[in-house]
Amino acid sequence: MIGIIFGPPGSGKGTQAARIETEFRLTHLSTGDILRSEVARGTEIGKEVARVMAAGDLVPDDLIIRIVQRILRDPDGSSDVLIDGFPRTLQQAMALDRMLAEEGHRVDFVIALEVPESALVDRILHRAAVEGRADDTREAIAERMHEYHKLTAAVLDHYRKRGVRVEVVDGVGNVDEVFERIRRAIGISSR
Ligand code: AMP
Repeated sequence: MIGIIFGPPGSGKGTQAARIETEFRLTHLSTGDILRSEVARGTEIGKEVARVMAAGDLVPDDLIIRIVQRILRDPDGSSDVLIDGFPRTLQQAMALDRMLAEEGHRVDFVIALEVPESALVDRILHRAAVEGRADDTREAIAERMHEYHKLTAAVLDHYRKRGVRVEVVDGVGNVDEVFERIRRAIGISSR
């Protein structure tokens, strides 16, 4: 099973994805976490993307596509995956569809968390105080919101047009409330 979780920065998608991973035994694949780990370890990729990420811009499609491809092709990896933070552009979506089609798979569902922008900025600034992420400044937040709305909305349309189940879920509320809505929307029972 291949699921995708979408949500603007600060919508709680990382928290919900971790929860879905535990309850539904899907492997959580977060491209943001992978890139942050590359930066923290000072790898070649990390050096290449650090400045782009800190500014809140998207890293190049070909780089992120290669990273995801490597993980999905790993024969020891799980075939039940929840992808968080990818695809973010139409080109990434088409690359993912091709990669999955090669293995006879397709995207089974997309969850799109919706949270009003005013609530998002408060949440992100709170996270900045707690975790100190380099891209949690007001300027970078504004840029990430802009990127999200400009590019990611097109990805949702892409999946809708291809007949993939896209569930828009209200992301306002506590972690349990939002998780319950996701559980009902995707309609799979806990294992
Ligand atoms: P996230 O944790 O998903 O909000 O991602 C944090 C940052 O990592 C983004 O603002 C981008 O700079 C970069 N990033 C993560 N996933 C992608 C992607 N699929 N395409 C391009 N850039 C990405």
